[in-house]
Amino acid sequence: MAAETCIFCSIIEKKIPAQIIAESERSIAFKDINPMADFHVLIIPKVHFTGLNELTEELGPYVADMALMAKNLAREFGFADNGYRVVINTGSHAGQSVFHLHMHMLAGRDFSWPPG
Ligand code: 5GP
Ligand code: ZN
Repeated sequence: MAAETCIFCSIIEKKIPAQIIAESERSIAFKDINPMADFHVLIIPKVHFTGLNELTEELGPYVADMALMAKNLAREFGFADNGYRVVINTGSHAGQSVFHLHMHMLAGRDFSWPPG
């Protein structure tokens, strides 16, 4: 189900390198190439769809697995108590630049609200 030119599909298929920190049957987590916090990983489904607008009930288990992976990483890396931020940018107003659904998980500093 990989899109030919999708960089994140290439990471899933290990065709291009990434610092992978977690992997399950449905999801994979790897370090963002341009980190915005000490801890900044991207959690993506192992199927290609462009973003939340394309989410269907059938794809729901993938998103549930991504959330579970974030929870487990927070515990593993010691951020569960002090907190962390999970973001899904969707579309141009939100600044989405890679069109394979991804959850940013950021931790290790304070984050302001409202976001910029
Ligand atoms: P978006 O702006 O779409 O929400 O986030 C895309 C993210 O993917 C950005 O934070 C960007 O740094 C990251 N990114 C883009 N290309 C690559 C890549 O080839 N490898 C990794 N690890 N991250 C990437
Ligand atoms: Zn893809």
